[in-house]
Amino acid sequence: MEPQRSPLLEVRGNVELKRPLVKAPSRLPLPGTRFKRGPDRMEAALEPEKKRTRGLDTVTKIATSHPRPPALTVRPQTQSQTTAPKVAKKTGPRCSTAIGTVLKNQKPGPAVPAQKPGAAPPVLGGKKPTKRPAWDLKGQLCDLSAELKCCRERTQTLNQENQQLQDQLKEAQQQARALGAECRTLEGELARVQAQAEQGQQELGNLRAHVLELEEQLGTQQGLVQELQKEQVGLQEERRGLAAQLEEQERRLQASEAALSGSQAEVASLRQEAATQATLLVEQGERLHGLEMERRRLHNQLQELKGNIRVFCRVRPVLPGEPTPSPGFLLFPSGPGGPSDPPTRLSISRTDERRGTLSGTPAPTTRHDFSFDRVFPPGSGQDQVFEEIAMLVQSALDGYPVCIFAYGQTGSGKTFTMEGGPGGDPQVEGLIPRALRHLFSVAQELGGQGWTYSFVASYVEIYNETVRDLLATGTRKGQGSECEIRRAGPGSEELTVTNARYVPVSCEKEVEALLQLAHQNRAVARTSQNERSSRSHSVFQLQISGEHAGRGLQCAAPLSLVDLAGSERLDPGLALGPGERERLRETQAINSSLSTLGLVIMALSNKESHVPYRNSKLTYLLQNSLGGSAKMLMFVNISPLEENVSESLNSLRFASKVQLPPSPGAVRTPGWL
Ligand code: ADP
Ligand code: MG
Repeated sequence: MEPQRSPLLEVRGNVELKRPLVKAPSRLPLPGTRFKRGPDRMEAALEPEKKRTRGLDTVTKIATSHPRPPALTVRPQTQSQTTAPKVAKKTGPRCSTAIGTVLKNQKPGPAVPAQKPGAAPPVLGGKKPTKRPAWDLKGQLCDLSAELKCCRERTQTLNQENQQLQDQLKEAQQQARALGAECRTLEGELARVQAQAEQGQQELGNLRAHVLELEEQLGTQQGLVQELQKEQVGLQEERRGLAAQLEEQERRLQASEAALSGSQAEVASLRQEAATQATLLVEQGERLHGLEMERRRLHNQLQELKGNIRVFCRVRPVLPGEPTPSPGFLLFPSGPGGPSDPPTRLSISRTDERRGTLSGTPAPTTRHDFSFDRVFPPGSGQDQVFEEIAMLVQSALDGYPVCIFAYGQTGSGKTFTMEGGPGGDPQVEGLIPRALRHLFSVAQELGGQGWTYSFVASYVEIYNETVRDLLATGTRKGQGSECEIRRAGPGSEELTVTNARYVPVSCEKEVEALLQLAHQNRAVARTSQNERSSRSHSVFQLQISGEHAGRGLQCAAPLSLVDLAGSERLDPGLALGPGERERLRETQAINSSLSTLGLVIMALSNKESHVPYRNSKLTYLLQNSLGGSAKMLMFVNISPLEENVSESLNSLRFASKVQLPPSPGAVRTPGWL
């Protein structure tokens, strides 16, 4: 049980409540305390909050302070202590608590003993009321009436106070609601601010990452800077080196300039000298040209004197496996100048076996002597043979037609002489490759004197009076459609073979390739027709054209190298089977063309008005290489074997017929165009 308080204590409590209430600190979280933004941004974000909070200060004061009790008037001290608990009840627990709190700090006064009825009323201000004597009932009644009145007044006052407090409560509740709304707004604001703060955090994180990245870049850049600095040091070093070089070069340049000025003076004098030399050179050129023309004239004169138609005899060596001829079968008597002279004579001994057998005496031997422009015994090499004809090749370049034949029976060495031996050995290279090499090299030398030469090659074979191209390629290779010999144009002296290839050549390699192709074409033909190559004439022709542009001179002449068909005759005693008949036809064609050749040469030698060129394809094709100023050379190839003596004698007789002594003074002009 709480002890009853006296009205005085109550009044004191109310007086205490009149003191200004302590301003309660706002419990609202200070906006922005958790923000980690920059101060200026935070201030801006918090500005409305602050304002709002400041604006609320007064409200907060009201809301958080206890409702002020109504101002109390000092009550008369007679107020009954018993009313106190009632008042306390009416003012509510908060009021009583406040009063209680205040009273706790004061020394409690001495307990007032309960007055007895009729006792004197209590004296205010600590004075003990005068106690009325028990008999003073009236006085006691009076005191009680006064106390009652006081209590009524107090009740009224308390009612008013209660009313005021209720009003205040309503007002406080309104304020609480307003504050609740405010609080929600602030919470929303807080959430927004927190979101901003999170965003700020995120941005901060990004910025930190960016800072890290930048730091990394900075590291790389610093590394680069260091490298560049190193490079710079190197470059400076290099620059110093180059500067030193430059100095050296400048020094040299100065020296060179000094030398140059000396040289310029020298050049001036040399130029003068060169001008003099040029004049001399022109004069020399003129002289040289004159000499060259003279050389050509004299060379031709020499060839003419040697004879436009010359015959060389060549005897091939005995081949391995062949019987050795008896000593004295072939003899090469020395010339008038003794053994040092090149041989020009040949003796062949023939034993008449039939006469010896019939009479029982040793067979008589007949000796046949022949004389030619030159005789090559079996040991003669290809180079020696070529030496003799190199002059003729020179004539071809000078513009004179040249024709070289190889005549003889099959196996006597015609192909060996013209094309060469097997295996591509340069030692056994034949006349054709040697002649062409010589031509190309002399043409190059003449180029220094202003002459330019061009060469066009063709290679055909004449078999049974039909012409076939040996340079055919592709589908025509090996068989070839027939070719015809025609004049190049109406009224033209020049002859051409239709369907045949004319190939421009400028070096040995190209000629080699052509010879190889001709060889292949012949090989193909040989499979179908027995040893056709020896039964046909092979004609290699080179059209030589020269021009001296500076002097407006031109020359052209054909060089013909002919490997004739085997000159052997058919044995009249042979039975004529189908093969032999074909062979007979071949042989007749060959013999006919060879005798025509002999007749043509003789007609030319005798300067007959009619030369039977048309009697054979061979002479018809070669007519431009034979007549006029043409130089002709015939090789008579002889077998060294005794068994071939008959054919050898036939060949030697044929060659002797075509070889006539040169007519003195028969010098002809070259074939200038
Ligand atoms: P042809 O063409 O007259 O029928 P070849 O030129 O084919 O004769 O010669 C017949 C054989 O004799 C070939 O094997 C050839 O190599 C050889 N022969 C010809 N002449 C000589 C020579 N001067 N030196 C060496 N071998 C030769
Ligand atoms: Mg041959």
